[in-house]
Amino acid sequence: MLEVKDLHVSYGAIKALHGVSLKVPQGSIVTLIGANGAGKSTTLRALSGLIKSTGSIVYGGKEIRGLPPHKIVSRSLCHVPEGRMVFANLTVKENLAMGAYLQKDKAWIAKQTEYVFHLFPRLKERENQAAGTMSGGEQQMLAIGRALLGNPKFLMLDEPSLGIAPLLVKAIFERIVEINREQGLTILLVEQNANLALDVSNYGYVLETGSILLEGPSAELKANPRVQEAYLGA
Ligand code: ATP
Repeated sequence: MLEVKDLHVSYGAIKALHGVSLKVPQGSIVTLIGANGAGKSTTLRALSGLIKSTGSIVYGGKEIRGLPPHKIVSRSLCHVPEGRMVFANLTVKENLAMGAYLQKDKAWIAKQTEYVFHLFPRLKERENQAAGTMSGGEQQMLAIGRALLGNPKFLMLDEPSLGIAPLLVKAIFERIVEINREQGLTILLVEQNANLALDVSNYGYVLETGSILLEGPSAELKANPRVQEAYLGA
């Protein structure tokens, strides 16, 4: 379980988060939706220690706010950033191996690599291809696969649908649900595509200019006229 209380972040004089509080129960998929610039990526960056914040971030009963990113990763939290950031010159296989650099159990690495190939057969077909030459959707699959090789318990996904063809987006979101079910992974999903995000998640938060405007079970948010008008294109 992750519990965030009264999180504040500033970029110099610009206040990006004004006291964000949210909970992500173990084993759930929780989504954070909101328009451009609402502070979604900033929230994830603060949770993974990439930027300074004030407030409280408790994970597994312990305060993790203020820890450097590598300590947060070693507590099994993994962040798949927006824009994917795969190693363009390395092959798919090499990228996956990079994800496993802290893992010592070779048999587990081999098994988990097979699991990633089972989830995303396209990656298996392209295992020797340079990651930079793959499509945006394939790179997103690789970024998720690489994260899984770090054996995370808590996965933060920043806009996995961004710039990806609709058919691949659907496939990726189905796999996100599968990973949650099969690997028992807790997922915090940041998305501008509110429709999709609310379909796959249990609970959602709506972020607007750095504050939580609304929250609730995803089905309720989807039925909320305010959400429909502002975020679902109704
Ligand atoms: P998007 O979907 O467009 O990425 P977002 O909800 O993820 O939006 P953030 O990227 O978290 O939004 O940005 C929140 C606010 O903080 C914005 O006003 C943005 O301009 C500002 N901001 C983000 N990064 C920086 C930075 N490095 N320096 C200054 N301001 C920043």
